Amino acid sequence: MSMLNRTGIRTIERMASRLSHHRRERLAKLFVAMSRPSGEQQPYDCPLCGYSGIFDPIFGSNALRFDSECPACHSRERHRFLKLWLDRATSGESLGSFLHFAPEACLQDELRTRCTQYRTADITPGRADLVLDMENIDLPDASVDTIMANHVLEHVDAGKALPELLRILRPGGLALLTTPVTEAWDDSYEDPSITTPEARHRHFGQADHVIFFGSDIEDRIRAAGFDLGKVVAGGAQAARYALIRGDTIYLARRPAT
Ligand SMILES: [Zn+2]
Repeated sequence: MSMLNRTGIRTIERMASRLSHHRRERLAKLFVAMSRPSGEQQPYDCPLCGYSGIFDPIFGSNALRFDSECPACHSRERHRFLKLWLDRATSGESLGSFLHFAPEACLQDELRTRCTQYRTADITPGRADLVLDMENIDLPDASVDTIMANHVLEHVDAGKALPELLRILRPGGLALLTTPVTEAWDDSYEDPSITTPEARHRHFGQADHVIFFGSDIEDRIRAAGFDLGKVVAGGAQAARYALIRGDTIYLARRPAT
């Protein structure tokens, strides 16, 4: 106990400040785990890799989330929810030609088995098969059957990106979209005059976010021409797989005709 007097804490702070970001985060996670009330830390199941056990906390978008990341495959809540939805909704049916924006590693093997052609895309060169700007997609009209874009819409001008997603989908094709949404807001919060990384972090939760969506995201997706469905996480599934209650997958389908 005497080790943790003011001088001791300053020493720990000084040592931590010399660590790499990655090591500092590991240390912070250790302290987070140790500081939880007893009994809160429980094992969960990962449907992506089969791991069962304690999940890691993550620090993201101004928030600390307990039980977020599977330590084996690094899936987060939304990835596990997507996997569970795919298992339930597609019943082994092929997703055809599949385009995965900002591709998360933990989903790639899973998605590859579910489609006839799997391609990844990112705006930053070197991160994916294709370098694509979602606001101006360099692909032909009606050339993709299924799109996935998790936490991408809050980084781009959705008013430009959504019509582009519709354009490249074949009639009847489906875009699976997830993004942070504050359901209790009628209107999204955006302000094009906020452009610096610091101000964007303060206003939109991350240095490269340009919007906080409200429930009007549904109108925005429909306005681009999609038929919209959604599936919302909760219940016993959230308790078993450590999902975020209320997390939503938007199922944006290009009308068949
Ligand atoms: Zn896993």
